[in-house]
Amino acid sequence: MAPGGLRAAHAIAEIGGKAVLIEQRGFLGGAPIAENYAGLSTEVQGAEGEGGRFSLRLRGPDGEQLAECGAVIIATGFSHFDPGRETQMYGYYEFPDVIALQDLEPMLKQHNVLRPSNGQPPERVCFIQCVGSRDRHIGNEYCSKVCCGVASKEAIEIRLQLPGTKVFIFYIDMRMYGYWENQIYWPAQEKHHVQYVKGIITEVLPKGERLLVRGEDTTMGRPMELEMDLVVLSVGMEPSPGTRKLASLLSVQQNKYGFIEAAGSPLDPVSTSREGIFACGAALGPADLEDTVSSAAGAAMKAVGYLRSRAAVAR
Ligand SMILES: Cc1cc2nc3c(=O)[nH]c(=O)nc-3n(C[C@H](O)[C@H](O)[C@H](O)COP(=O)(O)OP(=O)(O)OC[C@H]3O[C@@H](n4cnc5c(N)ncnc54)[C@H](O)[C@@H]3O)c2cc1C
Ligand code: SF4
Repeated sequence: MAPGGLRAAHAIAEIGGKAVLIEQRGFLGGAPIAENYAGLSTEVQGAEGEGGRFSLRLRGPDGEQLAECGAVIIATGFSHFDPGRETQMYGYYEFPDVIALQDLEPMLKQHNVLRPSNGQPPERVCFIQCVGSRDRHIGNEYCSKVCCGVASKEAIEIRLQLPGTKVFIFYIDMRMYGYWENQIYWPAQEKHHVQYVKGIITEVLPKGERLLVRGEDTTMGRPMELEMDLVVLSVGMEPSPGTRKLASLLSVQQNKYGFIEAAGSPLDPVSTSREGIFACGAALGPADLEDTVSSAAGAAMKAVGYLRSRAAVAR
């Protein structure tokens, strides 16, 4: 639960409502909190009732308990695409120096970017974009929205922490989001000398102590092969198992990718196919933090509005 769930609960409290936060992991914070804090966790096991009076069966550290509520906001987020899936030729599970964006993030936080294979700082690093997104073969035709920005941000951080390291980003086309164009993309190139190469990478192979990255430079229209010390896969977003599970428990419609279907979109992007159940953040599809907190505030308003209008009718 979080950051969508945290923002929704906060917004409900701000307008005088009561919210119960249910989190399956032992900590709040969702995907941005990579570390596994110790703590207590709770899962939804079953759901009954309808809009205005839901009864959720929870299993937590104190055993089973019921949560009674008038409305539900699903804020169960996303999972990282598994880069070991069929059709992925990048050796994520074979070569220790092939990692993903979320593996690099804690290394950067600790100022400890080292090749997992030998503990040495990498001299050449590349990012491969659109891993598990915009890919018809695996059925994820959508863009995951954040990975171009996140890869560029991480590339800048590598250049700052290891100024001697060359950093490349292999992309189909860069999709920077809103202000990230000016805040991240141009500084990455102009100030930090990250090298953007328009191309499609088809495979990663071992070559001596290094990795051979093979593909096609689509600007030049010719094959390319480059040696790297560290390869970072910019994996996309998929619905989390919790999103799929809760959609099924609550009988809420999902889209063809498994994200929650927004029934009222585009004017109402947070209502679901069931009255009294709303959704926010990456449970609805790829979303950055700004999208997430905006939709969370929207879902909170809709949920409280729904309950107040029911109460007014009952009076
Ligand atoms: C590597 C990486 C870097 C990123 N960096 C940025 C950035 O710099 N800027 C930016 O704007 N965005 C960034 N993002 C995107 C950002 O992480 C998401 O926008 C945000 O996490 C979405 O929040 P959420 O609350 O919808 O989902 P999540 O963060 O996925 O949180 C969902 C929560 O729900 C819980 N949950 C799931 N199922 C259940 C269940 N059944 N019962 C109870 N709890 C459940 C999970 O445990 C989790 O805590 C990044 C993403 C990645 C992958
Ligand atoms: S944000 Fe960039 S890397 Fe991510 S799916 Fe879209 S185009 Fe590909």
